[in-house]
Amino acid sequence: MIYLDNAATTKMYEGGAELYKKYACQSFYNPSAGYGEAIEIKKELDNVRSLIKAKLNSSHGDVIFTGGATESNNLAIMGSRRNGKFEYIFSEGGHPSTYNVAKELERQGFIVHFVKLQENGQVDYSQIESLLNDKTRLISVEHVSNETGAINDILKISKMRSLKAPKALLHVDGVQAFCKIEINIDTLNVDLYSLSAHKFHGPKGVGALYVKNIEPLKSIVFGGGQEDGYRSGTENVPGIMAMGYAIDKADVNDNLQKASKFNKLLKSMLERDEHIHINNIVGSPYIISLWFEGVNGETLMRALSGRGVIVGTGSACSTKKAGNRVLESMGYKKEQIKSHLRISFDEFLTEEEVRKAGEIIVEEYNKLRERVL
Ligand code: PMP
Repeated sequence: MIYLDNAATTKMYEGGAELYKKYACQSFYNPSAGYGEAIEIKKELDNVRSLIKAKLNSSHGDVIFTGGATESNNLAIMGSRRNGKFEYIFSEGGHPSTYNVAKELERQGFIVHFVKLQENGQVDYSQIESLLNDKTRLISVEHVSNETGAINDILKISKMRSLKAPKALLHVDGVQAFCKIEINIDTLNVDLYSLSAHKFHGPKGVGALYVKNIEPLKSIVFGGGQEDGYRSGTENVPGIMAMGYAIDKADVNDNLQKASKFNKLLKSMLERDEHIHINNIVGSPYIISLWFEGVNGETLMRALSGRGVIVGTGSACSTKKAGNRVLESMGYKKEQIKSHLRISFDEFLTEEEVRKAGEIIVEEYNKLRERVL
């Protein structure tokens, strides 16, 4: 099987799975307990916090462990909300775990603005600039789009914020960026950054929220006061340790080089077919967004899986919904959206597999296209 849906999830490192087992079956102590064994676990968790900060190139700030990025995004957004006439700015390209939180804020009566996407997948920076003012409480954007791979210029947004709304918090959903591209959180001057372990070969159901200054954040989960009161509930120790393993193992430069090589190779193979259109995205080499003239994306995805090639139709979290909000915001036509597929790489792939996948994609597409014609 050739797995090309790494934006949906990745396979865990074997070493991470072994570590998971160790912390589930041997060193299974509750990090909040007072005896030596538990205190050791607490220290190990703190080491993972340091790993996260190091990967973000952060010189200060805190890390709160969560049950994945959906929770990190909820905490960042809901935990930043304040009563009063504050305004909130969201990208129309956000994952449902930001977009639907924004919708909920709107439903609760908060002033929420949605920013359109440009045709290249990035947010409309001029719209953000025009929306910023001294009432802006939070700006929330995705670093890399899970649908298209578009990379937003976070530094640009951060500078606009400093000029026009210096009190506003900047939240970045970094799920498709962390461990994949170089991030310098200090330079970007980001307040809140979400990540999820299962997107970089860690386990599912565990993630983190980086917080520059913890003061403005309020908890949205109440209980035993773990994570300094910002996220009650016993930490998922095995998951966090396996996440730490994956962070330690991720060689961003090497991964990026591999993804770029695979991206170029596959694009060059697919582009030879004049009916296959690679979307013109300013973005991450890990993700190719493309559409196939005259063929339904989902039908092609199923045909490909029958041949052992796994690709995605877009966000796994929204496959049951009709349409595609992100592509619609970019101004794509219905036909392009219906025929859309997403291909995403990881470092386990080989050149041979990518070449083979390219041949199968062209073959299966043409079989289906002939049937339609
Ligand atoms: N944000 C983005 C950009 C994502 O791709 C995902 C996962 N599809 C999430 C948030 C949600 O992450 P999790 O699965 O850890 O809840």
